[in-house]
Amino acid sequence: MNIITRFAPSPTGYLHLGNIRVALYSWLFARNNNGKFFLRIEDTDFERCNKKYIDNILYLLDWFGLYWDNEIYFQSKNIDLYNYYIDLLLNNNLAYKCYCSFERLINIRKNCILNNKKPKYDNYCRNKNLNYKNIKYVVRFNNSFNNNIKFNDLIFGNLNFKNKELDDFIIRRSNGFPTYNFCVVIDDNNMLVTNIIRGSEHINNTPKQINLLNSLNFKKPKYVHLPIILDKHKKKLSKRNNVYNINKYIKKGYLPYTLISYLLKLGISNNNLEINNIKKLKNIFNLNNINKSPCIIDNKKIISLNKYYINNISYNKLKFYLKPFFLKKNINMNKINNLYEIFFIILERIYYLNEIVNFYILINTSFKLDLNILNKFNINFYIIIKYFIKKFYLLSLWSIQNIKNIVNNYINNFNLKKQCIFILLRYILIGNKHGIDLFKLIFILKKKQVLLRLNNIYKI
Ligand code: GLU
Repeated sequence: MNIITRFAPSPTGYLHLGNIRVALYSWLFARNNNGKFFLRIEDTDFERCNKKYIDNILYLLDWFGLYWDNEIYFQSKNIDLYNYYIDLLLNNNLAYKCYCSFERLINIRKNCILNNKKPKYDNYCRNKNLNYKNIKYVVRFNNSFNNNIKFNDLIFGNLNFKNKELDDFIIRRSNGFPTYNFCVVIDDNNMLVTNIIRGSEHINNTPKQINLLNSLNFKKPKYVHLPIILDKHKKKLSKRNNVYNINKYIKKGYLPYTLISYLLKLGISNNNLEINNIKKLKNIFNLNNINKSPCIIDNKKIISLNKYYINNISYNKLKFYLKPFFLKKNINMNKINNLYEIFFIILERIYYLNEIVNFYILINTSFKLDLNILNKFNINFYIIIKYFIKKFYLLSLWSIQNIKNIVNNYINNFNLKKQCIFILLRYILIGNKHGIDLFKLIFILKKKQVLLRLNNIYKI
């Protein structure tokens, strides 16, 4: 059997880590089994869907390299197909028109809650064959089955639901648009999906979908519901609260490798957390091994993985991912002639890509020296700087070691405070007292810039 999976986001907000995990696992399961991976945009809720979210979904899948097969499937383009099946159900008494007013439904709900019962429609319109002209109605599924619904979930095992707990849920709203549970069943059948991989928030929808597909004589796919991901406060991730919005990770300077390997590790029990080789992770990844308990996002782990990948990917890849960060600051990266040296010098101490850009900006932005700050050093900085200007000017081999020798010899010979001289030089060179290693900084700036900047103290 050819494996077919799908990723079916609703474009009602920006995707978070949990959504991308669903896409990643579905994609990988299809790829590992020589199957197909489809993308379906679930955009029938016109009030909440937005084109900007669709564009962003496509951008993110591309950023992660999760390419889909065939054309994108838009639910909004399939309304006729849904209506065809709704008519079929109506004609076979497997669905019915419901004319209950909003007030009535609210009352039913109130009563259920008052009697400590799960809110449920009271099937008032069922079997009445109602058909009024010019009155709005919804179409409900006739869920009059008595038996239980059982299904096996690869992660949660055998699950059993009582049909009498389910109500006659709406399959088409009064505005004419079909609802999520209905469209999913039609689409998964239409797209020949064999394995549904999605978040465990959909477990309770599955019995409804199974009833629907049984009544339409559709084949039942296999189900995998992934355990929920919780934030550090143990709250469910949601598109609404936006904290784990993937775009935020991208903006901050995370690499796709970081997030992919973090998410893959969530799916590997007994994982050797030290494995950072994505190819290896993809090979040992197995849906059968996923633990059903919720996972809590460990941001520290993600940050340290990012540092790892920034240090371990090729220079070309690094440049590729850095380009947008420089562009955003209107800097043409191709014109930076010491980019490789900048990487080489600061990589080991950075966690995010944008730190590279910030560092570049820091060492290339002109600034004014403040005499008050210089005076606070309480040393004769004119004499000291004069010495360094001379020494650096005469230095023929501009190496970190030689720079270090010049600075350290001076400090030792005159018995000066190391920190004080370091801070003074850093301040004069970049207008900032702290940060990057002084010798590396002097090395990157190169002789001409260093001499120019040191000379600035004579201009204040
Ligand atoms: N559109 C649903 C969501 O965004 C997914 C539905 C499904 O995978 O069945 O959560």
